[in-house]
Amino acid sequence: MTMPEHACFRPLNPITIVDLRPDLSFVIPAFNEEENLRNTLLDVADEAVRLNKTYEIIVVDDGSSDRTYEQAIALSRDLPVVAVRLSRNFGKEQAMSAGLSRTRGNAVVILDADLQEPISTLGQMIERFEQGYDVVYAVRAHRDDESALKRVLTGGFYKLLCLGSECDIPPDARDYRIMDRKVVDALLALPERNKFMKGLFSWVGFKSCAVPIELRPRQAGTTKFGLRRLFRLALTGLTSFSTWPLRIWTVIGFFIAVLSMLFSFWIVLKTLVWGVDVPGFATITAAICFLGGLQLLSIGVIGEYLSRVFSEVKQRPGYIVSEELSSAGRG
Ligand code: UDP
Ligand code: MG
Repeated sequence: MTMPEHACFRPLNPITIVDLRPDLSFVIPAFNEEENLRNTLLDVADEAVRLNKTYEIIVVDDGSSDRTYEQAIALSRDLPVVAVRLSRNFGKEQAMSAGLSRTRGNAVVILDADLQEPISTLGQMIERFEQGYDVVYAVRAHRDDESALKRVLTGGFYKLLCLGSECDIPPDARDYRIMDRKVVDALLALPERNKFMKGLFSWVGFKSCAVPIELRPRQAGTTKFGLRRLFRLALTGLTSFSTWPLRIWTVIGFFIAVLSMLFSFWIVLKTLVWGVDVPGFATITAAICFLGGLQLLSIGVIGEYLSRVFSEVKQRPGYIVSEELSSAGRG
């Protein structure tokens, strides 16, 4: 029996697939940036139009106590903005993750809300990106604006971080960067909660290139990264990207054990040859204090790692979204 012709499956109408993805998704983490947000978003929009790119802007309000979120909503009436409000301040790393998870663009640009990185450099970065790099990131051309102490600390931190680390984290890299969709997807697939984005950016790999930029002073407001916050971030970086602080105690312990053995031999020999020598208070006190300090330090280091393991094991989400509104064509 032959099948009637109308029973065959044929496409009825040719379906045109329209790519609704914008060329660029901008991710802007903002914590108390009410004074900067308007100028930043308008500049970003102007630049995207000038570069002839379709775009969306994802503003992540990281628990601001000012009107940052309301500003983003107001701007979303004229610009394709997705405004995301986190339920409290989770830190820039988490705010960036929240932003990245909302992007739909073929490429993603991460940008600070204070426009310290001039948006006029975007064209140059896109040029390199279009030459075939998957990631183009900005590096500071110099650190002349920073105090000598901060420069020394930062330099030392990156040296420590890269000691025995499997990836090379560029020391002067900013978070300001353009990434291909596949890089963003790789970043979003990482399950860890203690995020040190500069490390993760380099860990995922891909073909990268750096573009030096001159930082401008902040438009308004003050830096949100005080010494305490930087120190916390540095600890997260160290504990999530290197294990040498844990392992080094084996080496230190070994050397101290060898030294103690030699010293014990010497004391026994001295006692046998010259008899009992009672003084030695200073040596004993110094040894007890030194070893006690060293033990506390090593326990502290283990504690740092343990606290990260603890927070990973609990599996709490890295951030919680309290509100979200979009005018970027997704309802
Ligand atoms: N930021 C954030 N959450 C925070 C701290 C900072 O989203 O807890 C944002 C901030 O609004 C800005 C960016 O991260 O858009 C960089 O912060 P800041 O300019 O204070 O850092 P700096 O440029 O001084 O390193
Ligand atoms: Mg800044």
